[in-house]
Amino acid sequence: MRTWSDLCLICEGQQDFVVNVHEAGPYERSHDYTRVLYCRACSVGELRSFSYDGFVVFGEEDEVMVWSAILSTADVDLVRTAFTCPVYLAGGCECPQHVRAYDTSVRVHKTRLPEHGPDRHSPAGRSVAVVAVVDGLVEFRSA
Ligand SMILES: [Zn+2]
Ligand SMILES: [Zn+2]
Repeated sequence: MRTWSDLCLICEGQQDFVVNVHEAGPYERSHDYTRVLYCRACSVGELRSFSYDGFVVFGEEDEVMVWSAILSTADVDLVRTAFTCPVYLAGGCECPQHVRAYDTSVRVHKTRLPEHGPDRHSPAGRSVAVVAVVDGLVEFRSA
């Protein structure tokens, strides 16, 4: 099993793991997750979606795909204070808050990050997402 970093795209530093919106795995040949991350050094957060598919045929498609959208410090603070689920790092949780966060995160436009080449994990041109609290639940929207 391989592990993957959630390092900051800008400074490559360790980020706060704010909320595990959804996670399946890690399994031996697949792992998917969507997380809210925050870099204290850069004062920028992100909504990151990660997918590892060990079943793809080599050369046909990338095994690993990562998408990211920027979240402002204020929006990350809103997630920290308004997320109603007490087990916010439990990506398999199916409570209304986790489900709402995941369902809305899927619809948010994110930027695909190249896994190879000089632009790998570049923060340039990333999409921006915003956080809203609707009916008492945190949700995500495209900016
Ligand atoms: Zn950083
Ligand atoms: Zn939950």
